[in-house]
Amino acid sequence: MIKKQFKAESKKLMDLMINSIYTNKEIFLRELISNASDALDKLYFRSLTDSTVGLTKDEFVIRIDIDKDARLIKIADNGCGMTETELENNLGTIAKSGSLAFKTENEKTEDVDIIGQFGVGFYSAFMVSDKVEVVSKPYGAEKAFRWTSEGADGYTVEECEKNSFGTEITLYIKADTESEKYSTYLEQYKIEALVKKYSDYIRHPIKMQVETERLKDGSEDEFETIVEDKILNSRVPIWKKNKNEVTEEEYTAFYTDKFYDYEAPVKVIHSKTEGNATYNALLFIPKHPPFDYFSKDFEKGLQLYSRGVLIMDKCKELLPDYFSFVKGLVDSEDLSLNISRETLQNDGQLKLIAKTIEKKIRTELKKMLNNEREAYEEFFKNFGLQLKFGIYNSYGMNKDDLKDLIMFKSTLEKKYVTLEEYVERAGESQDVIYYACGETVEKIDMLPQMDAVKEKGYEVLYLTEYVDEFCIKMLAEYEGKRFQNICDENLDLDTEEEKNAIKEKNEKSKDALQFIKESLDGDVSGVRFTNKLKTYSVCLTSEGGISLEMEKVLNAMPNDNKVKAEIVLEINASHPVADKIISLYENDKKDELKDYAKLLYAQGCLISGVSVKDPAELSRIISDLMVK
Ligand code: ADP
Repeated sequence: MIKKQFKAESKKLMDLMINSIYTNKEIFLRELISNASDALDKLYFRSLTDSTVGLTKDEFVIRIDIDKDARLIKIADNGCGMTETELENNLGTIAKSGSLAFKTENEKTEDVDIIGQFGVGFYSAFMVSDKVEVVSKPYGAEKAFRWTSEGADGYTVEECEKNSFGTEITLYIKADTESEKYSTYLEQYKIEALVKKYSDYIRHPIKMQVETERLKDGSEDEFETIVEDKILNSRVPIWKKNKNEVTEEEYTAFYTDKFYDYEAPVKVIHSKTEGNATYNALLFIPKHPPFDYFSKDFEKGLQLYSRGVLIMDKCKELLPDYFSFVKGLVDSEDLSLNISRETLQNDGQLKLIAKTIEKKIRTELKKMLNNEREAYEEFFKNFGLQLKFGIYNSYGMNKDDLKDLIMFKSTLEKKYVTLEEYVERAGESQDVIYYACGETVEKIDMLPQMDAVKEKGYEVLYLTEYVDEFCIKMLAEYEGKRFQNICDENLDLDTEEEKNAIKEKNEKSKDALQFIKESLDGDVSGVRFTNKLKTYSVCLTSEGGISLEMEKVLNAMPNDNKVKAEIVLEINASHPVADKIISLYENDKKDELKDYAKLLYAQGCLISGVSVKDPAELSRIISDLMVK
């Protein structure tokens, strides 16, 4: 028979696994049992609509047999089985499973531990076996096939005999070495313990023949050995148990195994709901975004079970986009089993469940924000963007539900603050919420407008994410206080007196300012003196709805309709340049003033992070000035 080679990726991963000094070899059993259970689910699901399957729920079984002398472990199921092609495709390549995708992305880290944490599935059998045989016959098929492999050097597939449908996997357990006692896996107690540890919640019975010592009937000191079939797992799915019956470790094991994560979740939400919608939900908030979270391949959704049977792997109707990071499952008695993607969308029951789940997640997040601040900030760093998008999307439909979950860093301590905290500190006398936009906190701190706002003692929110200002504009106000961009032209910090003084100064220098505006060829819609600058000589502010930051974001998007912010060039009224301008105008030094106008505008652009329109001309003006 010709020996076939594994696909390249599989070979690499297998080498890594077989030759690694990986310590957690025992997970092989969990992996094989999970696969068997999935195969049983598939056939069980089919049996609901296809009466020819002819098995009742409890007849779907996983069997484990140990032959200590021959050093064999057999794991058999009467599930859907695999055809010859499926044996080739499923066991000849591993590229389909999420683990490899993760592995390749993180190639450099060479973190061997990741392998086991992720559930590499079938291949883990080679960590404890010299040889693996898979005999499988699909339900309803005539022929059975045997897949055999001794590890990374390849595999064979041949036709064989098998009476019943399903899959039987035989592991030829490795000989013991100095450091590894593979023989323990041939012990009954060890297998029992491993099933309890990893596979207790598997719905289908996992049976094994066990030997137990028992007192003989009627005797007080004579023992007999009884051999009987024992169900090793307690079978109640973890989500059907009561919260107080499940330990944190069990939740974590369930989550990492089922949702391919290598870290425990930050939050577990386990709820039983009765009433209009009756369901159990077990939800997890991951510690970090899944590896494909920001790719277009990412699919949100919760697993959907009906009476303990998985009917859909990623039911996206159960989660709003802004909670797309949530993993978990919902099990409801109310749903019909042969529900399809199409009928789901109109299923009133499902909508009701989705609504209560959304509310549940929201409440839990709020609780976390109130009681576990540090954990929440960590969560927010990972998923806050999602919540802000949630406010902005759907024309702000969900803004009221989400506004108390978002945070921004603020000038007060450079720490995250909620809008509620800001408003509480601001007190009644302050009627606006100040914010400023920029790439980083450091850059925002350098904005000329910041000086005056800080000097007056106001707290300012740093908006550093590109969605931030859009989100703020959607909110418009919080608790009656409107949001005020400190770079908007209408920023008003002056007293009446100061206002009058600056108005007068602008009025008096009207012609000079008009001349500067004209020198700038339509780049600005106004030029005026301001009180709001302290050390800087100029700044750019924007009038109307579009700020400079928004202009940057919007124009970075693929779109032909470029937007333009209405820019005002504001000049520090108490800076010597103000006097200089007026004197140049009065002494009719127009050429010089024209150059100065360009210099002032260019400075404004540089400070705001906008590129200078004509760098060559700017350079000429500066050089001319230098040799004067
Ligand atoms: P994963 O379970 O992550 O998909 P595995 O390597 O464990 O990866 O298994 C590969 C595939 O082989 C499974 O997705 C399944 O289609 C098939 N398979 C494995 N074990 C069985 C089994 N006992 N019965 C039927 N199909 C199986």
